[in-house]
Amino acid sequence: MPQMTRRDFVKLGAVSAGALGTTPLGFDLAEAVQVQQNLRIDGAKEVHSLCPYCAVGCSIIAFTKEDAKGHAKLLQIEGDPDSPVNEGRLCPKGATAMQLAISSRRVSKPLYRAPGSDKWQEISWDEMLDKLAQRIKESRDATFVAKDAKGNTVNRTEGIAFAGGATFSSEEGYLAAKLMRTLGVVHIEQQARV
Ligand code: SF4
Repeated sequence: MPQMTRRDFVKLGAVSAGALGTTPLGFDLAEAVQVQQNLRIDGAKEVHSLCPYCAVGCSIIAFTKEDAKGHAKLLQIEGDPDSPVNEGRLCPKGATAMQLAISSRRVSKPLYRAPGSDKWQEISWDEMLDKLAQRIKESRDATFVAKDAKGNTVNRTEGIAFAGGATFSSEEGYLAAKLMRTLGVVHIEQQARV
């Protein structure tokens, strides 16, 4: 039996579509054109941004449209084909970036699990920030080293480590590094180096 090449297959599809309006696989081309015309991103606003997940820094395009109430609705996020970094591609993680904004499973309130407990409980942002401040102070007080073994003044906090995120802006990175160094933290890392 003669083998059909990919080129033959495409030619056959074109001939059949011209004659019948359908492809050999039975797709209705008129319907396909209609679907293309009804793309949900048709007329949407394109906003260029970066994938927030890792230091590769792939460019993304977010498509938004205003709903009846005038609120911007996120329709789609995809790789930016004009980016020299990712040329339109996204890894599986980046391809799910839209879930960051719309997933119903996204945690949107602080959750706290007390020591020994097997349950998470919702607490307010104020409570969470107070707890964080309290823990940082306790750890710093417990692990602060004023002088090293040779008697050199070092004033460092060895019990806390900090990792910055790859999506920090320069200003956020500057602020975070300043705060950590003010606390005496020396174990400072950046996601971009991990
Ligand atoms: S798409 Fe993947 S590789 Fe690109 S920045 Fe996001 S997580 Fe990193």
